[in-house]
Amino acid sequence: MLLAKKALFNPQGDIDVKLGRILGGNPTNLNDFNHMKYPWASQWYRQAMNNFWIPEEINLAQDLKDYQVLEPAQKQAYDKILSFLIFLDSIQTANLPRLTEYITLSEICLCLNIQTFQESVHSQSYSYMLDSIVSPAERMEILYQWKDDEHLLRRNTFIGNLYNEFQEKQDDRTFVKVLMANYILEGIYFYSGFAFFYNLSRQGKMSGSAQEIRYINRDENTHLWLFRNLIRELKTEEPQLFDPKMEEELLNMLKEGVRQEIAWGQYVIGDKIKGLNSTMLADYIQYLGNLRWQSLGYAPYDPAHATEPASMAWVSQYADANLVKTDFFEARSTAYAKSTALVDDL
Ligand code: ZN
Ligand code: ZN
Repeated sequence: MLLAKKALFNPQGDIDVKLGRILGGNPTNLNDFNHMKYPWASQWYRQAMNNFWIPEEINLAQDLKDYQVLEPAQKQAYDKILSFLIFLDSIQTANLPRLTEYITLSEICLCLNIQTFQESVHSQSYSYMLDSIVSPAERMEILYQWKDDEHLLRRNTFIGNLYNEFQEKQDDRTFVKVLMANYILEGIYFYSGFAFFYNLSRQGKMSGSAQEIRYINRDENTHLWLFRNLIRELKTEEPQLFDPKMEEELLNMLKEGVRQEIAWGQYVIGDKIKGLNSTMLADYIQYLGNLRWQSLGYAPYDPAHATEPASMAWVSQYADANLVKTDFFEARSTAYAKSTALVDDL
């Protein structure tokens, strides 16, 4: 078995990057930014640093007004989707450090540390949205809806169990499966929720919330990219782990994730929200499932859903990081100017 909790202080660790391995390596744990086995890890790290953002820089004053006049179905979906997203980002924040205890390549751990920080910021942004839009009592109700709503609880139990499995059983195969669970979470579970927020925004409602979601979406895309690379590189380093039985298990996990996301979309959005319906969502999520499987280097498992449905093309336009408003970056440079002044005062 390759998987083992790595030593922390390890002067006998390997310095030569060629000896570095994702699992079963012998690292010194020194963060050497000039010598990394995988150049993409260095690029990812810099990109993620450049994507830094602060939830409170987005003004939600108009969202407070919009929320009061949302239709009951929109309001209910807004609350339930937020409750689900808060859970996802919170469990990600807690789960990622479990992985880095076993990964023996420092550069991968550095990236996962930044990801963990970003997941914390995402939970903070939902908290800011709730603080701005609803009363403290409603906020508590939304935060913990997942404990009482049976659909929400079922979804969260599925994800929670996949993560718990690695808590209880640390072996090579369980590690591959927990990587896949992360990949599915980053690549499937957020997406009907994201589409819901973008759909409200294209109708001129809750645009501040949609802007928060775009920054989160941009980060989630990089997380997806990170896990895709991690799985692909592990497959190159340890091809024996990806035998036909494992590949079948991974595909079944993905299909189950797709099935659950579609069922969730039907429950929370269904056919009661203007601009979105359950067929559009199902087509979109099936397309994403195929896309995620192809990104891991396999052929589409469902060729009928191998291209983006035209009815959902507006989602990727909304999510496109290049369309993120430039005034955000102006706001950010002001924030940096302020923090420099603070440092000067010390
Ligand atoms: Zn997140
Ligand atoms: Zn993420």
